[in-house]
Amino acid sequence: MPPIYLDNNATTRVADEVLAAMTPYYRDVYGNAHSAHALGRGAHAAVEGARVEVASLLGCTSHEVIFTSCGTEGNALAIRGLLDRNPSRRSVVATAVEHPSILSLLRALERRGEIALKIVPVDASGMVNEDEWAGSMDESTLLACVMYAQNETGVVHPVTRLAEAAHAQGALLLVDAVQAAGKLPISMRDLGADFVTISGHKFHAPKGVGALAIRDGLSLEPLWYGGGQELGLRSGTEPVPSIVGLGAAAGLALDALQRIEGVRALRDRLECELLEISETSVNGGAQPRLANTLNLSFHNLPADLIVTGLDAEGLCASAGAACHSGVPEPSATMKAMQKPIEVGMGAVRFSLSRYTTAEEIAKTVEITRRVIERMRA
Ligand code: PLP
Repeated sequence: MPPIYLDNNATTRVADEVLAAMTPYYRDVYGNAHSAHALGRGAHAAVEGARVEVASLLGCTSHEVIFTSCGTEGNALAIRGLLDRNPSRRSVVATAVEHPSILSLLRALERRGEIALKIVPVDASGMVNEDEWAGSMDESTLLACVMYAQNETGVVHPVTRLAEAAHAQGALLLVDAVQAAGKLPISMRDLGADFVTISGHKFHAPKGVGALAIRDGLSLEPLWYGGGQELGLRSGTEPVPSIVGLGAAAGLALDALQRIEGVRALRDRLECELLEISETSVNGGAQPRLANTLNLSFHNLPADLIVTGLDAEGLCASAGAACHSGVPEPSATMKAMQKPIEVGMGAVRFSLSRYTTAEEIAKTVEITRRVIERMRA
């Protein structure tokens, strides 16, 4: 029996349609997308076709899309590339629940004295404090960074309002939409985003490919230099099969949005049934949340041991918390939400996909009840 996979916010399986779309670009049309011959032209056309599909997913034009290797690279390119081109504004704002690809980079730049960093807190439900967000910016602010949807809790941020506040101070907005693709409609225009990052492996494309949308008219310094591919922003021979896979997955992600309520119904059933376990609470439940994400705290139990117990019974879920030398250490997100230690230490994330079935959810309830009861006994 294959395991029940409820760790789709960590990564997803490649969709069969995506694999089928990619295969010819490994075996038949394997030219360099910049070669003038037939195989090169075929590869080039495929890359440009994928760019159009990704642009539809992101609500922008295809010439605003740059292919990257992952979400981490997209975030780094936007942040460093913008700082390198704008030496006069040195302040950057980010919420306290950003992904490490943003927070660790910004903290490193702060340590080196390259930026002044302002971290905007979230409340106990995981929602960003909008007054503090607006108050943290002034005419020195170059960039503000916010996740569209938070990876651990699924909490969805009010990006359009956050964009207005940033633009009012002349700052630009980077929206990390890595967890949103295929789960929420994304429109760079409607969100008011200047930069949007996505990562293929979070929505059934392969690992190793992603995209950064850069609003028309904005310019970035590349992270590295070379042959000048991707408008000079990402030199290196394009991984054509992966880019084709990203394009195919973008099309499927738009279709999946039509069926997201089915995923939400399964998630709600899981939530409802697991909340019957004593001393269990939802993290982020009071806010708009991704339909596929459930973050539950099993109080006074270490999440990493819960996840090990679930794994032993064939269920893949994830724990943000870790137990170092017997001392439970809640995740940075739980700490930012100021969860008491006995709650934060037991936070387990169940993240569904379009492939999750009702039978798997029923089995998940059974397994989780058994594991928690055993640990509490
Ligand atoms: N941003 C968010 C919200 C994420 O959840 C992740 C990955 O978990 C990333 C960025 C980094 O993406 P990647 O693993 O593709 O570098």
